[in-house]
Amino acid sequence: MKKILALAAASCFFCLMAVQSFAEDKVYNVDVCVIGAGAGGTTAALSALEQGFSVVLLEKMPGLGGGGNFMEGTYAAGSRMQIKENYPYNPEYGFKQIMDFHHWRIEPKLVRTFINATADNIDFLLDHGVEFEGIKTMFVGYNLTWHVFKDNTGATMIKAFVPLIKEKGGIILTETPGKQLIQDKSGRITGVIAENADGERITVNAKRGVIVATGGFAMNREMVKKYLTRFPLEGQGAKGREGDGINMMIAVGADTANMDLGMQSGPCFDVDSSLTFGNNVKYAAFGAVVLQPFLHVDMQGERFFDETLSFEYMSNAIEKRGGRTWNIMDQAIIDDLQHGNGVVRNHGNILVAGDRLKDLDKLIVEAMKEPGNVVVKAKTLDELAKKTGMDPVKLKQSVANINKYAAQGYDEEFYKERKALRKIEKGPFYAFKTVLKMYATLGGAKINENFQVLDKQGKVIPGLYAIGQDAGGLYSDSYDMHIAEGTGSAFAIAGGRLSVKHMKENSK
Ligand SMILES: Cc1cc2nc3c(=O)[nH]c(=O)nc-3n(C[C@H](O)[C@H](O)[C@H](O)COP(=O)(O)OP(=O)(O)OC[C@H]3O[C@@H](n4cnc5c(N)ncnc54)[C@H](O)[C@@H]3O)c2cc1C
Repeated sequence: MKKILALAAASCFFCLMAVQSFAEDKVYNVDVCVIGAGAGGTTAALSALEQGFSVVLLEKMPGLGGGGNFMEGTYAAGSRMQIKENYPYNPEYGFKQIMDFHHWRIEPKLVRTFINATADNIDFLLDHGVEFEGIKTMFVGYNLTWHVFKDNTGATMIKAFVPLIKEKGGIILTETPGKQLIQDKSGRITGVIAENADGERITVNAKRGVIVATGGFAMNREMVKKYLTRFPLEGQGAKGREGDGINMMIAVGADTANMDLGMQSGPCFDVDSSLTFGNNVKYAAFGAVVLQPFLHVDMQGERFFDETLSFEYMSNAIEKRGGRTWNIMDQAIIDDLQHGNGVVRNHGNILVAGDRLKDLDKLIVEAMKEPGNVVVKAKTLDELAKKTGMDPVKLKQSVANINKYAAQGYDEEFYKERKALRKIEKGPFYAFKTVLKMYATLGGAKINENFQVLDKQGKVIPGLYAIGQDAGGLYSDSYDMHIAEGTGSAFAIAGGRLSVKHMKENSK
């Protein structure tokens, strides 16, 4: 605000305009302003209120929850749920495994603080009425760290938190995006300028600090192309996550970390994500179909990875081949998915091994009408190659190989587990087009273990905190799904709690 006043003073005309618009400002004077009402922001707002702070929570979209409505489960180490189930996964083990996975290229203090906070995350959630399905894993034999919310949705958490925030006096302003951080002469962040749906300027002065929790930039194509240089993954899920928070922080001098990383979601059906994600979407079943681990080939028809790999490993392999695959099946496999053994590979906790894909035949007919040749059916492999643009020799070789491996029970090329070896023998044959997508971006402002934002000299920008997908430093190279499922949301929830704790300790 002070900066804007100074600029406006430079011209009489602009001065008049600015003074007029300031006269119409709605001003809130509170302790804490939280920008973004998703997983991290709602946790931060609730924690701050419980610490006795007054709070304004700004949300850009008409609805609350952001990506928090899409997550299914959250990571924890040594939680009371794990202890109750006698599951021996503790913070020390988690720390070592996560640090090794990322080759120690991440921030060890931040990682330790985060992991140590995750058991308390679960306490916080349970103590505020959030219910869980249980502790699960999407993969076979992996760590049980994924505390899956009731009904497989983080909306359970948002629905529990929002009434509590209101009850405790929190002010929630929807359709009111934060636009700019207010920085005083000393460099301290003292508030936020936002704008509501009527175009009115809102000024939130925040005595204790501002917590930025706008969920990263998965839905901002320009930013994705600029930063995700390996492969410009397409974002799926909540729309509002367009990098606003990160850009606001960069504008006040914040450094960034890991901006090139996305939370890879493996091969996804190549239609608009709104058709595969959310409630009652048309092609929910195809999210599972394209993940089935029988035979994926590149655009030329060549097999190039073990289809049972976890999402991040598969995605890395696919990125190197241009980010797309065809998933090849025959009628026998389709019939088995629909009427027989069902899916082999889980699709989240929504469709799990053994679940049958009802009406798959009918859906395939529908999907064949979609633009972009996303499902192709053919009587022979030659015809399939012709219709999809694959090289028939390569495609037939890939199929012959997989049939040999299935017959002998051993994948000579990539050592895929036996139960995922299936013959593809008799037409009609199907090819499902897949493209790599992501759930969220993983980089953001550089922070210390108190979630305070650092500038390019490594100094704290006072009064400014970044949490969840607006903060970097926890990942390097890939998301760590197969060793620590659910760290994305857990980082947001932990950041929400710990940033407030730090503010409280500093205000003493
Ligand atoms: C399909 C899907 C499945 C997922 N599954 C899992 C899972 O099982 N486990 C897991 O850990 N993670 C999962 N994730 C990721 C998880 O959703 C995120 O890690 C988590 O939501 C991050 O929390 P956040 O607070 O940083 O951002 P979000 O929860 O996305 O919240 C950000 C909020 O900020 C708002 N916002 C944006 N700009 C502004 C602005 N200028 N002003 C005000 N508000 C703004 C957004 O509208 C949004 O409401 C999944 C994501 C998706 C999309």
